[in-house]
Amino acid sequence: MEGDNEGTSKVRRKKKLPRFKQYRRAVDLKNPEFRLGMQFENRQVLKEALREYSIIHGRKLFFEKNDKTRVKAICNGGLKCPFLVYASQINQDVQTFVIKKLSLEHTCGRVEKLKFANPKWICDRFSSKIKRNTYWNLKAFQGEVLESYHVRVSKTQVYRAKKLAKAQIEGNYIQQYARLWDYAEQLKKTNKGSTVKIKCDMVGGEAIFKRIYVCLVACKKGFLEGCRPVIGVDACHLKGPYPGQILTAVGVNGNNGLFPIAYVVAEIVNKDSWIWFLSLLIEDLGIRNGLSWAFISDKQKGLIPAIAHVLPTAEHRMCVRHLYNNFRATHVGLTLKHMLWAAARATTIPWWEAEMDKMKEEDLEAWKWLVQRPPNNWTRSHFHTRYKCDLLLNNLCESFNAAIIDARDNSILTCLESIRMYVMLRMANRRAACGKWKHPIGPRIFKIIEKNKMGASQCIPRLAGDKMYQVSHMYGGEFVVDLAAMSCSCRR
Ligand SMILES: [Zn+2]
Ligand SMILES: [Zn+2]
Repeated sequence: MEGDNEGTSKVRRKKKLPRFKQYRRAVDLKNPEFRLGMQFENRQVLKEALREYSIIHGRKLFFEKNDKTRVKAICNGGLKCPFLVYASQINQDVQTFVIKKLSLEHTCGRVEKLKFANPKWICDRFSSKIKRNTYWNLKAFQGEVLESYHVRVSKTQVYRAKKLAKAQIEGNYIQQYARLWDYAEQLKKTNKGSTVKIKCDMVGGEAIFKRIYVCLVACKKGFLEGCRPVIGVDACHLKGPYPGQILTAVGVNGNNGLFPIAYVVAEIVNKDSWIWFLSLLIEDLGIRNGLSWAFISDKQKGLIPAIAHVLPTAEHRMCVRHLYNNFRATHVGLTLKHMLWAAARATTIPWWEAEMDKMKEEDLEAWKWLVQRPPNNWTRSHFHTRYKCDLLLNNLCESFNAAIIDARDNSILTCLESIRMYVMLRMANRRAACGKWKHPIGPRIFKIIEKNKMGASQCIPRLAGDKMYQVSHMYGGEFVVDLAAMSCSCRR
């Protein structure tokens, strides 16, 4: 406090005065300490600090005087406990309270039951935990309070605290939903060209939020210019008092990595919400012809009819891991597993038929189960080569979901904002990583090509026409390679 250029006599005089300190609620509330001359913003802040002190130290403080200008706290713990904090308003014009008398010594002992540890206090201190775990059981909650503050509270108290916290959280949620429209406008303003759509139901003249769709301009552009025409779609649950789901659409980038396209926070996942999402998506991406697009999904509820509705001609692949999980429920065994995957990986129809025949011989029931599934949903042999993508799994969506898993525990605005942040950071990171590539293609693609080069050493090409070759594989199989069309009859 002392100025550098002040006279020494003045400094000496100042040192004799008790050094005052301002109480900062944000920092000091964790463990309030009191000093003579200490200043408090107002009476409420002072009393809160005293109550917190009472709980932390396990002393039965009591406000002997408590009016507009004075607060006097004494300790009721022992017969003659000398503890005392007396504070009063600095002057009539300001709210600030200052400690005038102080005795911090206690002759009493600690107690575990304190009246200041009431439901409101419990709610204030534990609301973030309650928010994270709305199903917290009362006994565990009591234990947590005891462990953190060495205070015993009753079941009724924690029950009330939980109720208070829930009401607070829901209040926040309602406010957040109300601010959603502002958020949408802001997003469109800062990312010109992005699509943000909110769907509401009108109930008695009031708009009730149903879902929000976000497709950022960078995602739209990047996907259309740099990704293959393959879209993975998935849904994951949103937690909180208004349960909903996040629907996501991702593409495959040049390095077989994920490229986020658009996302929706919806009240429920069904055919209706999928149709809404997909219609907006195809409009955004300017998709006219379903034939040139493929979707990959985990076969979510309502998704199949939705895709059939909006883009009837698009290819729809089901994640094979998902298919296998269903298959496994009734058909166990490693042999069958390998057979299913071999059939999924087969790239030509005769090859696929051969794999299916093997399964038929091994287990007729398993074959019956699998043959009922439309093959164009799950095996490479029936996928079209025009998408230049042989993905069998929906793991890109899964990694996107895993990345936003923390976001979905939050309320809607926070959730939307953290997804947007993730998308932004991911793009920036990918761009930076691109600069470090050692080849003109991505490292994952490079690996695939290297592997194929090794495989090529087992093939013998013979010129069969203009840029056409007949290729014989050393272990059997003849294929036609057309360099002009960049194709091979093995369809790999
Ligand atoms: Zn005491
Ligand atoms: Zn080939």
